[in-house]
Amino acid sequence: SNKMLFILQDPSLLPGQMFQKMEEQNGKIVVGLYAYAGAHADDLQFKKGEKLVVLEEHGEWWKAKSLETNREGFIPCNYVAQADTMETEEWFFRSITRKDAERQLLAPANKPGAFLIRESETSEGYSLSIRDAGPKGLDIVRHYKIRKLDNGGLYISPKISFPDIGKMIKHYQPDGLCRKLGNPCAKPKAQKPWDKDAWEIPKDSIKMVKKLGAGQFGEVWMAFYNNTTKVAVKTLKPGTMTVQAFLDEANVMKTLQHERLVRLYAVVTKTQPIYIITEFMANGSLLDFLKTDMGCKIQLPKLIDFSAQIAEGMAYIEKKHYIHRDLRAANVLVSESLLCKIADFGLARVIEDDEYSPRDGAKFPIKWTAPEAIHYGSFTIKSDMWSFGVLLYEIITYGKMPYPGMTKMEVMSSIQRGYRMPQPVNCPSELYNIMLSCWKDKPQDRPTFDYLQSILDDFYTATEAQYQEQS
Ligand code: ADP
Ligand code: MG
Repeated sequence: SNKMLFILQDPSLLPGQMFQKMEEQNGKIVVGLYAYAGAHADDLQFKKGEKLVVLEEHGEWWKAKSLETNREGFIPCNYVAQADTMETEEWFFRSITRKDAERQLLAPANKPGAFLIRESETSEGYSLSIRDAGPKGLDIVRHYKIRKLDNGGLYISPKISFPDIGKMIKHYQPDGLCRKLGNPCAKPKAQKPWDKDAWEIPKDSIKMVKKLGAGQFGEVWMAFYNNTTKVAVKTLKPGTMTVQAFLDEANVMKTLQHERLVRLYAVVTKTQPIYIITEFMANGSLLDFLKTDMGCKIQLPKLIDFSAQIAEGMAYIEKKHYIHRDLRAANVLVSESLLCKIADFGLARVIEDDEYSPRDGAKFPIKWTAPEAIHYGSFTIKSDMWSFGVLLYEIITYGKMPYPGMTKMEVMSSIQRGYRMPQPVNCPSELYNIMLSCWKDKPQDRPTFDYLQSILDDFYTATEAQYQEQS
């Protein structure tokens, strides 16, 4: 190209610099957002602020070369940001959703005035989200759409426009929108991505530390992988499933990656018992959490938000044409920052235990299972929707056993006669109506998760006029 010729002919450049310049032309230049110490022999260490050129981008590990040391190696892509762009700004949150912007801004780490810039979900361009003090200490988040003039200028209010978002923020920091812009929203520190190609891992790379719980088919442990990465390990009682059936399903499960799903990292299948290595979730299952001192004090809006998060994860499963088959509060896990993620999706399919057969197995979760799944083994996303209705009941009752006082047989026959659980005392009618829609006889009459996510996301905000601009 012309640029390249220009570099080759530039007399002020030493040969080394010339080569570097050429690479800069071809590869994307990124800067370290954090220092990275390197965890593998072929990793590239770098400092915060160090400039690197990206040589190959694949998955979560990129091959890069330092422009300071000229060393090459692999880097975790979420530790760097494209140089000389908004990506390096503390307030830039890129593709976060409106709902997640609200969740993060309302987290205890932030105060009124905390703000962020994100890509708009509904249109090209960006939105500014800011935390404002609400009535009775109930803070809210306001969203402002950043609009574009034909000449490239940006504005929120047509009264004043700016050449770029950085200048816009500088202006509104003292001047204020609904209030003065304070600190950028606190960002959770990036997690080092899982090792590339570490799928079937050796058993001795896992050090079990603490037993977290036990289910029908084995135990769950907190453990360390390679002495560095905290993980959860599920051990499967021998005979629970065949290795091949499990591996087939696990290969599908590992491709399901979403913020609202517990990530499946790796497996150990060469020796019994089989290990399933997943993301560690500090606050355990939602069912247990709702019964803790902290959990039982959670207010209704937050309970609705938990439901919205689960609907979001299930909407992803729905979109991927997958089926969970065992959705209940025990299979939703709670993170350190009190976000919900769905666990154990698809596992029920490969369990071979007779006790887990729909009609009469002692271990089968009858109270969560749709009638057509119990009677005809017809598991679909619509039978998951039935289970979601029961899960809503568990959430709103802080983890009560559904159909209290009824046996599995009584539940099956009552449901068939048209009985449905009554409205729990503290349950808003709008939420109870959602439950009843999940429990419609005909699967096709039940809603989609995509629809329920939108309803639950906006459960409160839809009625409050808190939006300056739809964004
Ligand atoms: P169940 O789903 O019936 O509770 P499991 O074997 O799936 O049985 O899980 C047992 C318990 O282990 C859960 O209730 C939860 O407390 C804990 N647990 C499971 N997975 C994780 C995880 N990834 N992180 C933290 N705790 C977990
Ligand atoms: Mg489970």
